[in-house]
Formats: sequence, structure tokens, C-alpha cells
Amino acid sequence: MADSDVIIVGAGAAGIAAARHLQRQGLHCRIIEAGDRIGGRAWSDGTSLGVPFDRGCAWFHCGGRNPLVPLADIHEITYGGNPWNAYHLQSGLLDAMESRRLRERVAADVESLCAAGRAGRDPSAADMLDPEAPHRAVRDYLISAINGVALEDYACAEAAADDDTGENWIVHQGIGTLMTRLANGLDVVTGCPVRWVDTTEPEVRVGTDDGTFSAGAVLVTVSTGVLAAGAIEFRPLLPERKRQAVAALPMGIAEKIALRFVSNPFPYPPNTYLIVHAPGDEHAFGLHLCPAGHPVAVGYAGGPLAEWLNRQTDAAAMEFALERLARAFGNDLRDKVIAHTRTRWADNPLTRGSYSAARPGGGHASRRVLAEPVGERLFFAGEATDPTDFATVHGAWQSGIRAAREVVRQWGKEAEDGRLAQGD
Ligand SMILES: Cc1cc2nc3c(=O)[nH]c(=O)nc-3n(C[C@H](O)[C@H](O)[C@H](O)COP(=O)(O)OP(=O)(O)OC[C@H]3O[C@@H](n4cnc5c(N)ncnc54)[C@H](O)[C@@H]3O)c2cc1C
Repeated sequence: MADSDVIIVGAGAAGIAAARHLQRQGLHCRIIEAGDRIGGRAWSDGTSLGVPFDRGCAWFHCGGRNPLVPLADIHEITYGGNPWNAYHLQSGLLDAMESRRLRERVAADVESLCAAGRAGRDPSAADMLDPEAPHRAVRDYLISAINGVALEDYACAEAAADDDTGENWIVHQGIGTLMTRLANGLDVVTGCPVRWVDTTEPEVRVGTDDGTFSAGAVLVTVSTGVLAAGAIEFRPLLPERKRQAVAALPMGIAEKIALRFVSNPFPYPPNTYLIVHAPGDEHAFGLHLCPAGHPVAVGYAGGPLAEWLNRQTDAAAMEFALERLARAFGNDLRDKVIAHTRTRWADNPLTRGSYSAARPGGGHASRRVLAEPVGERLFFAGEATDPTDFATVHGAWQSGIRAAREVVRQWGKEAEDGRLAQGD
């Protein structure tokens, strides 16, 4: 007799969404999570800064159609509207007209990538965009930060498929906090890495250091970084097609540097996104100022800049962020720093990166392959499997529900087959 109907590997957004859906269908499912907390890449850190700091996802993207927004309302989690954008470039702070022109140029470049993707072509952004364009620093910063890769690795097919609505709503108490509330009442075993998944027998077995769990089906939600590293052994081996899909969806890198000040040193409204760049800088750098009204700045870097920051000491990384802020607001704010922290998603063995980024030349199609079940017992979810909202927490959530429906369909089919066999 199996321990549960369904085992879900991973208590991130995808795993929690799937478990809630399956539970509502009357199935008993158990989530097995390697880490010592719920949420995965949704992680609200309440201690490092003394106010909630989302080390992973922080924004409800596509706010108007994001399935987590109504759930946040139910769970009394609040969120802001789109941030105000400010640009501190060589000439100082851009005025409203210059800012609008800059945004339009960046948007036109991104649209050219989308158009190539829609036309069925899949070159990289570097193949398409003018490296000398006057707005290139801000453009390249945004593309790398949002997608976690250099322009050479950003695929036009991904740009075309990305169903972003431009509504970015910061979550005040943290998306990790929301995930913890959404997991309330679920059967979650934490601190229990899954080492192997065996689907050779009708009853699936899942091996951990604390023993073997059994179920009728297993849903795997770990990142493509974890799958590619072979942290979970599949018995039998995953089909070649699935392994190729994992390889075509490597993890991009995005990291945060967060600083808390004794009082608000910024002469801007809360929820301002500032991008700083001067002629000598290799990269522009963006910081979200007072995200939830607290005197905090959260710097964000993706792709090559994130990789460079990961090679710096903590002190050097903090100084990098502080120096950019001091340029815009003066050196006085240096004395006001009372806490700081940084993320290291690239080194996290439970993610092995920040979010998946399909490679140019056809990688995007692998998202659908990754989502496919293998046989009748092994199912897959996670942000990397969502064809339009990949690399987001709502994409992960949607993928969990999609996979849970596949499990329920399979379950219903088997129940029906059983009834037919008994002559019902
Ligand atoms: C820095 C950063 C910023 C981001 N910002 C945003 C944002 O603002 N908005 C947005 O929408 N998205 C954002 N994202 C992306 C978003 O966080 C992810 O897409 C989403 O949370 C992924 O959820 P998931 O369930 O697919 O995977 P995960 O959250 O990774 O869940 C998988 C779980 O599996 C566990 N696991 C791993 N190995 C094992 C094992 N062997 N056994 C058992 N369990 C295992 C992991 O610990 C993890 O809990 C950001 C991500 C990062 C890193």
C-alpha cells in the first residue's frame, strides 16, 4: 500500500500549487523538500535587514492576470503598483521627456527581438541589436537582469513567447511569506533531499536519506539546474528527448545586493527603480528604492554583471552598490547603512542558478518537452516548463496546476479502466 497518492518533489511555487489542486480533488499528496523551509526561490528573509526582503522573486509580474494576486488578497498580502523609473546617466538625472525617449528606444529594440521570434527566427539579442546604440547600457542591463543571461544567450524565440503585460507590482510582505501561507495545511516534509525516483514498478518509489516513500505518481518540480546536475537519479534513465530538453534550458544568473539605511536617504517617492550608468562603467546597474516603504535599496544584476559580482567579496559587492547610490545621492548616505546582505543563487545547490533561460537556435521549444509526462507515473512542473511565463513565480504556479490536472486525468483514466475491468 503506497504512503500517498502523489509525491511532489520540491516545495516551491509549482509544488505548492500542484499540492493544493490535488488535495482539492481528494488525493493525498506529500511534498518532499530538500531545504529547511517552504517556498524555494520564493524566500522572504525577515532577519538580514530587519524588514522583509525577498531574496528570490519579489514582484507580481503581469499583475492584471497573475493568478497569485487574488490569492494574495485572500491572505492579506499587499502589493504596490508599477514603480516610478529614474535614470541617472552621465549627464545626471534624466528628465521626464528624456526618460520616456529612453524607454521607447529600449522598447523598440525589444520589439525587434519579438518580431524576429514571431517570424520563426531564433537569433540571439546580440545578433540583432546595435552594440553602439546610445541607450545600449540601460537596454543591455534590463535584458540581462530580466533574463539572467548575456545578450549572446538571449533568444528571440523567448522574447516572442514571453507574455509580459508590463505590470510589475512589488509585494510588501514578500512572496515567500505568501507561499508559506498558501502551503498551510499541506503535508510537507522539509530537510529531506530526494536522491532517486524509481518508476519501474506500478508503485512509484522515491528515495531519501530518511527512507523510501511510495505513491501512485510522482511530480518533479526542481529547477533545470538541479536536473542537469543529476542530483536526482531517475530509474529508468529519463528518455533522451527529456535529457536534451533539460540541457537546452540552462539556468541564468540574477543576484541581489540589499542595503538598509537608518532613515530614507532618497529624495524620491517609495517604489522607485533607479538605473545608474556613467561612461566609464562596463555595466549599468539598477536599484529598487524603498520597495515597501522601508529605507532599503535592493540592487539587481543579471547575466555577466551578476557573474562578476559573484566573484567579488561581500565587502566589494556592497561597495559596488553603495558607490552607484552615492553617485546619485551623495556620499552622506554611506554613514546611514545599518544592515546589508546579498544573494548567491548561482551557488545554491537546490537551484543551481536563478531562472531558466532557453538558448538561441531553438531552445525555447524544449519548455514543452520538459513539461511532458514520462509514461503514466512521472510528471514535471516548475517555471522552466511554462511556455509563456517561464522564469516567473506565477509561471511556476500555473505549471503546478497544469501538471496536477495531468495527474488527475491519468488517475481518472485508471479508475475508469479499473471499473471497466470489474464490469461496472
Ligand atoms: C533573484 C531572483 C529574483 C526573481 N524575481 C522574480 C520576480 O520578481 N517575479 C517573479 O515572478 N519571479 C521571479 N523570480 C523567479 C521565481 O522565483 C521562480 O521562477 C519561481 O519561484 C520558481 O518556482 P519553482 O517551483 O519552479 O522552483 P523552486 O522555487 O526552485 O522550487 C523547487 C524546490 O525543489 C527543492 N529541491 C531541489 N532539489 C531537491 C531535491 N533533490 N529533493 C527535494 N527537493 C528539492 C528546492 O529546494 C525548491 O524548494 C526570481 C528568481 C530569482 C532567483
